[in-house]
Amino acid sequence: MMSIDKALLPPQRPKDRFLVFGAPLIEDAEIQEVVDCLKSGWLGTGPKVARFEEEFRKYKRAHHAVALNSCTAALHLSLLVAGVGPGDEVITTALTFCATVNAIIHAGATPVLADVDPRTLNIDPREIVRKITARTRAIVPVHFAGRPCDMDGILDLARRHALKIVEDCAHAAEAEYRGQPVGTFGDFGCFSFYATKNIATGEGGMVLARREEDAARMKTLALHGMSKDAWKRFSDDGYRHYQVVEAGFKYNMMDLQAAIGLHQLARVETAWRRRREIWDRYQSAFSDLPVVAPPPPELSTRHSFHLYSILIDPDRAGMSRDEFLGAMTAQNIGIGVHYVAIPEHPFYRDRFGWQPDDYPHAVRTGRQTVSLPLSAKLSDADVDDVVAAVRRTLGYPSKNGQRRREGGG
Ligand SMILES: *Cc1c(COP(=O)(O)O)cnc(C)c1O
Repeated sequence: MMSIDKALLPPQRPKDRFLVFGAPLIEDAEIQEVVDCLKSGWLGTGPKVARFEEEFRKYKRAHHAVALNSCTAALHLSLLVAGVGPGDEVITTALTFCATVNAIIHAGATPVLADVDPRTLNIDPREIVRKITARTRAIVPVHFAGRPCDMDGILDLARRHALKIVEDCAHAAEAEYRGQPVGTFGDFGCFSFYATKNIATGEGGMVLARREEDAARMKTLALHGMSKDAWKRFSDDGYRHYQVVEAGFKYNMMDLQAAIGLHQLARVETAWRRRREIWDRYQSAFSDLPVVAPPPPELSTRHSFHLYSILIDPDRAGMSRDEFLGAMTAQNIGIGVHYVAIPEHPFYRDRFGWQPDDYPHAVRTGRQTVSLPLSAKLSDADVDDVVAAVRRTLGYPSKNGQRRREGGG
């Protein structure tokens, strides 16, 4: 590292205040609704889940919405309801969370990876084309970091080859492509309300479906394969028998989760604006550093600003990505890695024979990427601390005119 004048460096973040990566912003409204739920005695799937589904459906301008206990469950059921099964191939991106790929495996199909566009980090339609075979049944695009995929390209391929589309929108609650909400392009759109996601219920998920019969089958599969809304069978209009019509799963959302989600959803746009502000702040604060920052959002899209990630190329930055991670943690800043590329994990390599060299862009990104905190919960002082820690780590003094924190605060 180059030598630096310590006097120019801002003070380090206090050691007793580790900045947790991805901490959700929980307010009194959620807390009160959870208390209300507990006092009502109705904790499981019930009226709050029904309200949350309807509010989310309206927010996304979708036909049908089914709440589940995770996005992983949403992906799994979407593939099953889409008719994907043994003997089928499903194409997805080499740069995603493992759940995307596992859902394909659990549906009984064979996952096939396509490399990403090195600029957007989204699945590249030109790479998809190279992977289509007679057995290809569906495409699972992931709107990575909240940046919408090239849906024109993907829809065109799906139409020409009669493929289903299941969108993984785990990062992309607020995203739009040419004015249309993501998650409404495909046959199904899958959302996550995991603790670090843009809408957080701890654990939770939602599926958007185009067709009513698909949504109905999804509900049945999510609750043991029972034919009626089972929560009704305990209500005051009398006991109702249910029938098991297929071997289902236990994937339903609880009212306790929906109680949190309802108020997270009510503030989704406020939180989005705050994350956009922080994203812009990082963009200008790092413009002179020897790192690769994300490109601006594409025209006629709405980015959901879920992740802000920079690439640490050791040749340019003078340190490895993992050295950078260690230095940030030592300065009390929680960071993330999204993601080590799928072909780098031993299970997939052994099971499918995937070679990292076949996915150069995803693999290089996975080796160089670092995600910085980007939560609406961050104060301006937190953001200053992240900026200062990044610059300090790379040996860059703070920029002129950068705000400095008053001692201790
Ligand atoms: C978080 C995530 C999932 C899984 O979401 P869960 O709700 O935790 O099951 C799937 N895909 C991507 C891209 C994710 O980031």
